[in-house]
Amino acid sequence: MMKREDQIKSLTKKLVQRRRELLELLDGELSELHNSDDAVAGDLADAAVELDYATVNSTLAEAESDELAAIQAALLRVKEGAYGRCVDCSKNIPIDRLRKVPFADKCVLCQEAKESLQDSIRLSNNAPQANPRRSRSTSSRT
Ligand SMILES: [Zn+2]
Repeated sequence: MMKREDQIKSLTKKLVQRRRELLELLDGELSELHNSDDAVAGDLADAAVELDYATVNSTLAEAESDELAAIQAALLRVKEGAYGRCVDCSKNIPIDRLRKVPFADKCVLCQEAKESLQDSIRLSNNAPQANPRRSRSTSSRT
């Protein structure tokens, strides 16, 4: 079995790779940003341009921009040595969970707590909002 440390390294590579894919989607709009493919090294600079992402986000599919933001945050945690630890209860997040959701910043328990909170907020707002992915595909059909 691989050491947790090594598994986290390979997960970090996946995150960097996935971020590059997402950035390529943005490439037409922010052409100069994609050069910082040097793993974690460029991430402080990337954080500095995160404000630019925010302006581009409106033109991106919601799911993709959310994922990019989550990946950026995860890579910052890698840099700080906090990656793989729950931001709420600071326990180690199980590798199995990180494999499924490499940018997870919370353990399952804290994530569920947060989601049920969001659910109750959504319910109280009474907004019949579907999953963004789903609403995108249905809207193109009609
Ligand atoms: Zn937790």
